[in-house]
Amino acid sequence: MKMMKTNDVGNRFLWLLLAVLSTTTQAQTNSTLTAQQEAEFAIQLAANRSIAAGQSYWIEELTWMEIRDLIADGTTTIIIPTGGIEENGPYLATGKHNLILEATCPEIAKKLGNALCAPIVKFVPEGNINPPSGSMLFPGTISLTQATYEALLTDIASSLKQSGFTDIVLIGDSGGNQSGMANVAATLSELWSNEITRIHFAKEFYDPGWEATEQYTERELGIAESRHDGYHDDIWVTAMMMVTDPEQVRYRQRVEAGLASINGIAIEPLDEAVQLGRKMIEFRAGFTAEAIRGVVSN
Ligand SMILES: [Zn+2]
Repeated sequence: MKMMKTNDVGNRFLWLLLAVLSTTTQAQTNSTLTAQQEAEFAIQLAANRSIAAGQSYWIEELTWMEIRDLIADGTTTIIIPTGGIEENGPYLATGKHNLILEATCPEIAKKLGNALCAPIVKFVPEGNINPPSGSMLFPGTISLTQATYEALLTDIASSLKQSGFTDIVLIGDSGGNQSGMANVAATLSELWSNEITRIHFAKEFYDPGWEATEQYTERELGIAESRHDGYHDDIWVTAMMMVTDPEQVRYRQRVEAGLASINGIAIEPLDEAVQLGRKMIEFRAGFTAEAIRGVVSN
């Protein structure tokens, strides 16, 4: 019985939220709300936090009140990072791109100073599903059709626009993610041409972001791959993943097997490899933040 009541309250809240905030159906639904219901909801939406704010760059780790207050205080940019679930050779977990973004996105947001990160979009186009092509030829890969991917990004971006973010920035760590983000940014820019919220595809995160990071590592840190082991893997993805979780590159098992290297570069000792990954992320986040500042101010 008690459960039922809680659900009813939750449903009523959702209903009010939809009714009040939806711009497309506002005319129809407003007439079904009493003035008192509207007033009650307005009070709820404007209520002060009763506790101090938590700290995170990820909106999924913040309460709606914390997000509301951050937006009001000028944190008006939201980054939508796209990763993937794909084959990455014999050592790296399928979540490679997501693990890299887990470390990189907050660093970009921190450098921007007025940004948060949306949850990582883990599902992206990875190849034809049936018959399989590309990464889909390997167990564990999850692929989306281009249409599903673009629809997913469209709904996520549109939701964040409702929150009140004024700049929505798409970044993607994998090659197959890029064209869909460009398409969605172009379509929504057109659709939102008369609105405050703008959407940007910061392609620089991937291109030339990856290559610039590789050049930085070689020139500034003096670390260059000396051979190619033949896997969908390299020292950059490995070191950056290790910042989030060394287990996801099978660090311990590789040390035990005498295979703790990639393309001629040792990944032990652990501390040094993680340090290397941190420097790469620091560089790539700075490079991307610069590019985002450029598109956001345009
Ligand atoms: Zn990829």
